[in-house]
Amino acid sequence: MDYAKTFAQAIDRLHAEGRYRVFIDILRNKGAFPNARCFAGHNGPKPITVWCSNDYLAMGQHPSVIAAMEEALHDVGAGSGGTRNIGGNTHYHVDLEAELADLHGKEAALLFTSGYISNEATLSTLGKLLPGCVIFSDELNHASMIAGIRTSGCEKQIFRHNDLAHLEELLAAADPDVPKLIAFESVYSMDGDVAPIADICDLADKYNAITYLDEVHAVGMYGARGGGISERDAVAHRLTIIEGTLGKAFGVMGGYIAADRNIVDVIRSYAPGFIFTTSLSPVLVAGALASVRHLKASGAEREGQQAAAAQLKTIFADAGLPVMASTTHIVPLMVGDPVKAKKISDILLAEYGVYVQPINYPTVPRGTERLRFTPGPSHDTAMMRELAEALVEIWDRLELRLAA
Ligand SMILES: *Cc1c(COP(=O)(O)O)cnc(C)c1O
Repeated sequence: MDYAKTFAQAIDRLHAEGRYRVFIDILRNKGAFPNARCFAGHNGPKPITVWCSNDYLAMGQHPSVIAAMEEALHDVGAGSGGTRNIGGNTHYHVDLEAELADLHGKEAALLFTSGYISNEATLSTLGKLLPGCVIFSDELNHASMIAGIRTSGCEKQIFRHNDLAHLEELLAAADPDVPKLIAFESVYSMDGDVAPIADICDLADKYNAITYLDEVHAVGMYGARGGGISERDAVAHRLTIIEGTLGKAFGVMGGYIAADRNIVDVIRSYAPGFIFTTSLSPVLVAGALASVRHLKASGAEREGQQAAAAQLKTIFADAGLPVMASTTHIVPLMVGDPVKAKKISDILLAEYGVYVQPINYPTVPRGTERLRFTPGPSHDTAMMRELAEALVEIWDRLELRLAA
């Protein structure tokens, strides 16, 4: 076996398909969101505007979040020093779990080191605890849910994206006596569309299934207190488990589930991805706690984000750019080719100081490669106009089609 050659060939395949990933080396400028410095060039850092951050509301730079983290750092130090079971259950963790349970109107919540781990650990453990369980999974579910479902060893039935008729067909065809779990997202992060949560809960009731909702791209941003689409649509109480991240709109890091006390207790007690890992740093937890509390009380960031997203969609559409039919804060431009998507992104960064990452397979299906913009409360009208002008120029240069 020529190991080096095999690995080199694996990388060559990515280059050949135009989807070899290049990470852009940046530092964000605190207090000047969305401005950052980029270290790609040779003449020292270059100022750029970030258009693809998942720190949607700039909470990662919010003064109260930073103050809470500084205070925790100086009070208790850098790390937690252990797993939750062995010395790492800090009072910050306990407080944040109570805050998150309250955010979703659930009895309890459980923290994980990331949203990815919360999905992987919870779904795999639930599946193993429910004998013969069948998991019904939306075809566009995130890789972390897919990983959890695979590890669960359960039978998986994939339903077409947001297709209630197809979901019902699959539910009706399953053995009425086996446990069933429906796993889906609220805001789909790459298309920016929203699941019909209440209708899916109706089907769950009809076929005696439990529900698992990933609200990663909605927590902090929807609902009167930032409880997500399930809060906005007043259906949180109907969902068995709500999962979220502290790394996107909350601006820090970590993941969680919220559910009734029994379910949280069983995941806490059985999930290896929760048990056998050092708990989140109390500094991160203190920051997340400040962020969750702030966004529960303040709607200004949410309103600013919605206004910015609506404005950018209008500006793109007016310029004839192929903006996808998102109903949320996510503004995707369809390119449909990995090489061109990367080329547009490269030109934007090199010539216009605009940073937007091309999104390619396997994050999105092949042939639907795109640029995904996430405007927030700090992206102003002038930035948006400059961005649209740059894109129109590049579209012309690469002989891509603009709408009339
Ligand atoms: C980002 C993401 C996750 C993972 O959350 P992290 O906290 O970044 O690990 C889970 N689900 C969806 C839909 C995501 O987009």
